[in-house]
Amino acid sequence: MTKRIAVLGAGPSGLAQLRAFQSAAAKGADIPEIVCFEKQSNWGGLWNYTWRTGLDQYGEPVHGSMYRYLWSNGPKEGLEFADYSFEEHFGKQIASYPPRAVLFDYIEGRVKKAGVRDWIRFETAVKDVQFDDGQFKVTVKDLPGDRVYSEQFDHVICCTGHFSTPNVPQFDGFESFQGRVLHAHDFRDAVEFKGQDILIIGTSYSAEDIGSQCWKYGAKSITVSHRTAAMGYDWPDNWDEVPLLTKLDGKTAHFKDGTSREVDAVILCTGYQHHFPFMADDLRLRTANRLATADLYKGVAFVDNPALFYLGMQDQWFTFNMFDAQAWWVRDVIMGRIALPDRATMEADVADRVAREDAGEDDYDAIWYQGDYIKELIAETDYPSFDVEGACKAFKAWKGHKKAGIMTFRDNGYKSVITGTMAPKHHTPWKDALDDSLEVYLQN
Ligand SMILES: Cc1cc2nc3c(=O)[nH]c(=O)nc-3n(C[C@H](O)[C@H](O)[C@H](O)COP(=O)(O)OP(=O)(O)OC[C@H]3O[C@@H](n4cnc5c(N)ncnc54)[C@H](O)[C@@H]3O)c2cc1C
Repeated sequence: MTKRIAVLGAGPSGLAQLRAFQSAAAKGADIPEIVCFEKQSNWGGLWNYTWRTGLDQYGEPVHGSMYRYLWSNGPKEGLEFADYSFEEHFGKQIASYPPRAVLFDYIEGRVKKAGVRDWIRFETAVKDVQFDDGQFKVTVKDLPGDRVYSEQFDHVICCTGHFSTPNVPQFDGFESFQGRVLHAHDFRDAVEFKGQDILIIGTSYSAEDIGSQCWKYGAKSITVSHRTAAMGYDWPDNWDEVPLLTKLDGKTAHFKDGTSREVDAVILCTGYQHHFPFMADDLRLRTANRLATADLYKGVAFVDNPALFYLGMQDQWFTFNMFDAQAWWVRDVIMGRIALPDRATMEADVADRVAREDAGEDDYDAIWYQGDYIKELIAETDYPSFDVEGACKAFKAWKGHKKAGIMTFRDNGYKSVITGTMAPKHHTPWKDALDDSLEVYLQN
């Protein structure tokens, strides 16, 4: 009997999984029946922008954490699909740091071409996953139809992302603060903070990028408070890094070094949780946000029940092409082309990955660690091999460009590791490019 596979989520990871199966079918293989459940009305995951925050029209938690004017924070040469280049999609090479709408268009282009939209049940939220008697029972809610139903599957591939459920700390004085307190997950438009003194808590990518957005769109000042170490870039004059916030008193923020300042808004860039409320206890991944996730053999197969897979759960230097490497590998396990070893071997693999990550000393080690992981997976499948080393070098150059100018690094270009073409310089420096539409970005 044909196997049935449930793919949870139609973001970049879930779409990579659909494309992996479709590419096998295109080569003549008999593929299992694939059903993808996506709670939003369109695909693209985080890249599918929504203005909503909190709960959506059906009372479901809003997935989106992206905001207006978001441009890629790393070079596109580090994420390019090996089977679908930017040049193939846009008909020409484009500059290296595309805005969200441009990347959404690119993600969508590949799966439109593959013709897999019919495999997805949109506006269908996964509510419960149980494993019993060799099968998964997946219970979902058809949101517009207000109907809950269950179906049986042989495998579940969880691709629901991990940058959606905010990690929200409490600080003294939040209750009585006379301005706005929000988490990065709810940040949508930097223009809202024009003319304001902004306090950002945290040193994540969100802190760096939301601060930069607020600076670009006219915030009066940016103060970034760190727990352990400052980000240390050469920030603009109205940007300061300070130690951790101790309390807020009215509109005054007090910091660990005894200094204080007035602020109008506090933005918590304090990270996200891996959150899978729909998974039964014995199926739920519990991991920190790191390169070597807990309990996943080869970073994807759940050791406690290897009929279940998780995609894209790593902390990410690489994104789209890493999800592809994982998706092709998972497909081949499911189709019997790759055999899984015994439990002890899988556990040893996880322990080895953790130890190797822990032995790394800096971000460069982390980049090459993840690059090696991609190479390891693609060597076992027919995913088109590409110059992973070249992509690592693009990331290295990117880090150097950030050090040289945190508000100008996006003005640089890199060479595609898929087509070998150099990206053109963008027509407008990032700090002056206020219109982030696809049409304007693609102008020559
Ligand atoms: C603010 C921000 C900026 C980023 N910028 C970049 C960048 O510049 N470059 C880059 O490469 N990466 C960036 N990322 C990283 C991002 O994680 C990846 O690019 C990518 O979106 C991850 O894909 P995913 O499919 O794993 O997860 P997601 O994109 O999160 O997609 C998960 C999908 O699962 C669906 N889903 C969730 N729960 C359920 C449920 N219960 N039932 C049904 N469906 C469900 C969601 O609706 C969503 O469509 C950024 C992330 C954030 C938060």
